[in-house]
Amino acid sequence: MSFEKLGLSEALLKAVSKKGYTTPSPIQEKAIPKILEGRDVLASAQTGTGKTAGFTLPMLQILAKESPQRKRKIRALILTPTRELAAQVYDNVREYSEYLDLKSTVIFGGVNQNPQVRTIRQGVDILIATPGRLLDLENQRLLSLSDVEFLVLDEADRMLDMGFLRDIKKVLSLVPKQRQNLLFSATFSREIKNFARDLLHNPVLVEA
Ligand code: AMP
Repeated sequence: MSFEKLGLSEALLKAVSKKGYTTPSPIQEKAIPKILEGRDVLASAQTGTGKTAGFTLPMLQILAKESPQRKRKIRALILTPTRELAAQVYDNVREYSEYLDLKSTVIFGGVNQNPQVRTIRQGVDILIATPGRLLDLENQRLLSLSDVEFLVLDEADRMLDMGFLRDIKKVLSLVPKQRQNLLFSATFSREIKNFARDLLHNPVLVEA
């Protein structure tokens, strides 16, 4: 199997080959075509499986297909449990979008919000965030989630373990109903299954 066969655009293939990847990992092989079809995906995947590229590459392709907006809006939201993971996902998004006209940024707590707010004000298409800081800025009306078309919950089990369920539910009340959802989790407790049932629309199940 090759990345070409998965249906990725030239710009993404170039970024993938710059990273030195030659073959898609199993989760990438299974998830990428389904995400490109517009399906919601429920994926069981640990760190180290290549899950980040598995959701980022097709997400970027979908976002890049739409005609450029006059003003950039947050069209994709990636939620992660920790600032470390948020920063790591952001690095990946930046690398994979190098040859596309898409802007991204990352926000998390524990640091001054002003530089984060300035970057968002300049216009971003993709926001990677931890739930607390995201809601904090939304409460202050410093960002809007009303244009989100693509929602990714990365390490959803850890987010629930860390007590973010209420925050995530609040986020879900702020994004449009019509959107594509991806949920990645290493484990599948009853809590995650219930949560996934509420969140996902007719999801494809993918295992790493
Ligand atoms: P992740 O599971 O997303 O944290 O990725 C784990 C590591 O695998 C990261 O260092 C990625 O850069 C790398 N990686 C992701 N996809 C591939 C691939 N298809 N071939 C080789 N390395 C990869």
